[in-house]
Amino acid sequence: MSKSVVIVGGGTAGWMTAAYLKKAAPSVNVTLIESANIRTVGVGEATFSTIKLFFDFLGLEEQDWMPSCNATYKLAIKFANWRADGNHFYHPFQRYEMVDGYNMGEWWLKLKQHEMPFDQACFTIPAMCENKLSPRFLDGRVFDDKVQDFFAGSRRPKNSFLAEHKVQYPYAYQFDASLLADFLKGYATRRGVRQVIDEVDEVKLREDGSIDHLVTHGHGTLSGDLFVDCTGFRGLLINQALGEPFIDFRDALLCDRAIALQVPKDIEVHGINPYTTATAMNAGWAWDIPLYGRIGTGYVYSSAFLSEEEAEREFRTHLGPDAHGIRANHIKIRTGRCRNSWVKNCVAIGLSSGFVEPLESTGIFFIQHGIEELISHLPGSTIDEEMVRSYNRVVADAIDGVRDFLILHYYASERMDTEFWQAVKQIPLPEELKERLDIWKHRLPNAKNINPNYHGFESYSYSVMLMGLGYMPERSLPALDHMDDTNALLAFRALRERTERLVATLPTQLDYLTQVRAEMFVAA
Ligand code: FAD
Repeated sequence: MSKSVVIVGGGTAGWMTAAYLKKAAPSVNVTLIESANIRTVGVGEATFSTIKLFFDFLGLEEQDWMPSCNATYKLAIKFANWRADGNHFYHPFQRYEMVDGYNMGEWWLKLKQHEMPFDQACFTIPAMCENKLSPRFLDGRVFDDKVQDFFAGSRRPKNSFLAEHKVQYPYAYQFDASLLADFLKGYATRRGVRQVIDEVDEVKLREDGSIDHLVTHGHGTLSGDLFVDCTGFRGLLINQALGEPFIDFRDALLCDRAIALQVPKDIEVHGINPYTTATAMNAGWAWDIPLYGRIGTGYVYSSAFLSEEEAEREFRTHLGPDAHGIRANHIKIRTGRCRNSWVKNCVAIGLSSGFVEPLESTGIFFIQHGIEELISHLPGSTIDEEMVRSYNRVVADAIDGVRDFLILHYYASERMDTEFWQAVKQIPLPEELKERLDIWKHRLPNAKNINPNYHGFESYSYSVMLMGLGYMPERSLPALDHMDDTNALLAFRALRERTERLVATLPTQLDYLTQVRAEMFVAA
């Protein structure tokens, strides 16, 4: 059994790993070393709906951590300007309903495509987003009865592992990343994680190439059985010390730079959007992540098409007067993954392991996935090479799967109006994705024809993105021509009525969160 684990890095990856590891394996000694001088990346505020399982596993209720991290609910990503007509659509955290064996997307193609946008017809969440609603009623009940029933009445969440993720939570969170790292630091150190504030100057290797110890600036040497590299894009242990190659994705995903800004927002005036917005721009796209009291915003772009100055100018024009006088943080993005994220006695988690641009908010999901797999592959008295190989396979599959899903976003978009948007259409597609895209021209994605390796996205996400971007079959499934439409029409009507009821009865996200914060501060 690995008795002592040393984590290097105190960003989101480092503290998520420390907190989870200590909870999952309390007898392991965990030390985390973080530098007071080397900054964290300072972004990473929108998440994926599986993040709920991470907090459930730690035993944390929303009221325990959300107010301290200025967190908000995220029900969807709103994609704006990705169509030639400039229209928007929502990619919700909500599966399709099934009618007579076929999902509502298939039925929409047959019955509703000339009446209503597919996202509004097939899901309740888009209307909730447009009305800035909370996914919870004021008494705390979740709007989706299936989720409410599944989680209610049990003290231990029924699916707090990705591997057992049967019921999808209908929302994720948006939070201040540095406040979350502080919160998790408190959680982890109270449970016995040792924090060392110092810098690692040198990584000493054994003859077999594994890590023997770390040499720190002011705390002497640090030894352990297992070392976790959470040093961000530097990859201090995995790449610099162990020399593990990094597989660059820039030939597939062109964006390699970001500009980030934090803009104050008067929530009393504007409310709080329960979604992240991804707006297509001249050479990439801009994110808008609403927190309680400010917006985190940024422009992810390709330096092959824009200089830093041009990108900042375009971005500030997009933001308008709200961003006047606010300093912009320019970030170089390392897009790709380590050939192997686990080498010898070193496991990379977070940006050091791999990263694709944050278009679907998957950075923190990769961390959660890496940690959960680390626990399930935790070594005994020696490190088993087959277990290491197994870990590396599932981690690589998840990152590669998301890469291919993002390639699809650019490929399927109708935009061709700038050199960047023309260039993304020329990117050679991975062979399997190419075959799938050919199929999806004739039928919508389903569980049997999407990438079968676990990468967080289900078939409804593929379907929603393709329909939203305008890449869809020219006609509905021939099988539906032979079927009676009655049940499908009833299902569309029931969904519309349910949506209207939710819009009439749910509180706004601002009202709900303000109530939760008031209760928390009174209790404190
Ligand atoms: P970092 O935050 O870079 O932390 C590195 C740590 O290592 C720091 O504590 C540093 O002090 C320490 N360190 C480095 N060298 C040493 C040393 N020699 N000695 C001691 N300590 C050292 N993810 C999402 O899920 N959603 C998003 O919306 C999202 N948006 C993003 C936008 C951009 C532009 C980028 C670049 C990333 C985004 N991500 C997003 C990813 C997310 O930011 C990261 O996954 C997350 O912040 C984890 O970062 P990290 O902890 O791996 O690295």
